[in-house]
Amino acid sequence: MRKQIAAANWKMNLTYQQGTTLLQDLVTADISLKENQSAVFAVPFPYLEMAIDTVHHKYNFFIAAQNCSDKKSGAFTGEVSAEMLNSIDINYCLVGHSERREYFNESNALLAGKVNICLANNITPVFCCGEALQTREDNKQNTFVEQQLRESLFHLSKDEILKIVIAYEPIWAIGTGKTASTEQAQEMHAHIRQVLKNQYGESIAEQISILYGGSVKAANAKEIFGSKDVDGGLVGGASLVATEFTAIIKALK
Ligand code: PEP
Repeated sequence: MRKQIAAANWKMNLTYQQGTTLLQDLVTADISLKENQSAVFAVPFPYLEMAIDTVHHKYNFFIAAQNCSDKKSGAFTGEVSAEMLNSIDINYCLVGHSERREYFNESNALLAGKVNICLANNITPVFCCGEALQTREDNKQNTFVEQQLRESLFHLSKDEILKIVIAYEPIWAIGTGKTASTEQAQEMHAHIRQVLKNQYGESIAEQISILYGGSVKAANAKEIFGSKDVDGGLVGGASLVATEFTAIIKALK
């Protein structure tokens, strides 16, 4: 069975104290994950060590970085390397969130480099993809997302692609309160899996977790996660409220 993942993306929100309290509330909530389920928290860089200490005793809770450099090390002031993340036992890193693509000009080629450096440092990239509203209105979302996958992931070997988590996040649904319908989400997830199948074969495509992101909340998580090819969610706004995110974790298959 594929891994089912509820991933929180705190973005640039919460003070250290607020973040600590939120994580403490989540680890003490009545959540017991099954073997195939994980909760992943992408927190701001300065909170990583606190977050690891807070969740370390909780089964299948993991901490993620929201970004890392595509460079190995050296004179890159302000950057954080995958090697640094690995040295403090970070297991996951978001790669290519649409906000980084849009505000920091991250291209598919650059993201291929970030994927490589994460894998080289035993970090699972949560690779984000997804189309803007205009692309969907032009009905070009399938080819657009396929190109993102092709240019950032398809240089990977079969062993390597198995270490990737994909998050489909239609940009028009992020932080807007507008969710893709269950049909739209399932349709795109099935397309992504088909594209993976064409490239790597069915047994590999069936093992890769594909998360949905875009205004997931407690009230809609169960329905969205219920679709065949949706293996959980990447959650922004609703991950900042302990009761909301607890319910989202509990909605995993
Ligand atoms: C996100 O930041 O990846 C996201 C999906 O945000 P929201 O849940 O707020 O739409």
